[in-house]
Amino acid sequence: MTDAPKFKDLKPPAEGERITFKDGEPVVPDKPIVPFIEGDGIGRDIWKASVRVFDAAVEKAYGGKRKIQWFEVYAGEKANDKYGTWLPDDTNEAIKHYGVAIKGPLTTPVGGGIRSLNVALRQIHDLYSCVRPVRYFHGVPSPMKKPEDVNIVIYRENTEDVYSGVEWRAETPEAKKVISFLNEMLSADPASKGKKILEASGVGIKPVSKFRSQRHMRRAVRYAIKHKLPSVTIVHKGNIMKYTEGAFRDWCYELATTEFRDHVITEDEQWEKHDGKVPAGKIVIKDRIADSVFQQILLRPAEYSVLCTMNLNGDYLSDAAAAQVGGLGLAPGANIGDNAAIFEATHGTAPKYADKNVINPSAVINSGVMMFEFMGWDEARDLILKGLQAAITDKQVTYDLERQIEGATKLGTKEFGDAIIARM
Ligand code: NAP
Repeated sequence: MTDAPKFKDLKPPAEGERITFKDGEPVVPDKPIVPFIEGDGIGRDIWKASVRVFDAAVEKAYGGKRKIQWFEVYAGEKANDKYGTWLPDDTNEAIKHYGVAIKGPLTTPVGGGIRSLNVALRQIHDLYSCVRPVRYFHGVPSPMKKPEDVNIVIYRENTEDVYSGVEWRAETPEAKKVISFLNEMLSADPASKGKKILEASGVGIKPVSKFRSQRHMRRAVRYAIKHKLPSVTIVHKGNIMKYTEGAFRDWCYELATTEFRDHVITEDEQWEKHDGKVPAGKIVIKDRIADSVFQQILLRPAEYSVLCTMNLNGDYLSDAAAAQVGGLGLAPGANIGDNAAIFEATHGTAPKYADKNVINPSAVINSGVMMFEFMGWDEARDLILKGLQAAITDKQVTYDLERQIEGATKLGTKEFGDAIIARM
């Protein structure tokens, strides 16, 4: 039985229960209702293959004791065709009520009120942490000498920083007003002597708050504790931007060393109190300047496990890290808040391949891996990873990998899903 809200057009599954959240963590029944957005373009091919992989893994792991009750909800072109809106209220109601959802890629509407559906979903549901695991699958071509050393989870703050959308176009009355105010502030401050913003500038504001930095860091540290990972690295440009990036670093340290004191030591404490050795079971909290992290994950990736970043740094870093293990084709992501989480592929709708049964479904499949991990269904997660790795090891892959792996067999999207299921 469900206590579902009243939907305008949708009908939730008759069986199943909702996933609820307690202290920001999911409480998962055995038969959860999970809303899914198939996605536009290649989303259609990918979802069909992926859902079979998910159901097969759950069936194999739990033999009917657990089962996902899938609930199709709409966004993007499919929603627009069906209901004349890109993001129906029903979809947001379903995500709000059922808590955990999974989606394929969505076409970004050109013109109209919505800038990006993905951004809209993040804002509506306050999904403040973007999580991108970067894991290597043996056999996938990579530009690294030892890609297997890369096993990093990037926590990127989703709501603040220069991406918060507080900006004004150059030479508008609004921009001029802000600049005039700022120049007045600068001229009144002796420490800012000589600084002046040119009147014809565009202006963007970079807000960074203690509350939002710390709730994000809390999630990153909890993840490291749950998965027994060795470190959380705070990434920032605090050497240049002291009151935004520097404050982010300080607030993150403060949170880790107060709320999680029993679990963590700082890198300074590691050297000052423990002679460089990490006491058993402790997580090292360290920080690195953003530009140095780009070098470090190339040169010494094994020294990093969780990176906690602000919005812009995390955006760049996520794609750069994904490239190290073979690109975006396999890369999943999640956007997580205190009351909801949405799991998704990071690639787009690649319309030229839509409905051709050729595209690689791995990114959505890996987003399901993240979803099962988030739900605590680790056995299902492990079976999918095992099947996916074995299919790649056996060189049974889709066109994108086949063209790079010598002696590989090219499979269609559906057949690749079958290959994974057969190897679980
Ligand atoms: P894209 O859809 O990611 O496709 C770019 C290229 O990446 C494809 O032509 C293909 O390369 C490769 N590719 C992407 N997904 C793949 C997969 N699953 N398997 C194998 N190869 C894959 O990027 P785009 O063409 O810039 O964007 C198209 C639309 O998607 C736009 O409307 C954009 O706004 C939207 N978009 C949505 C999301 C999202 O919903 N999360 C994210 C990004 C973009 P080859 O041709 O070389 O094989």
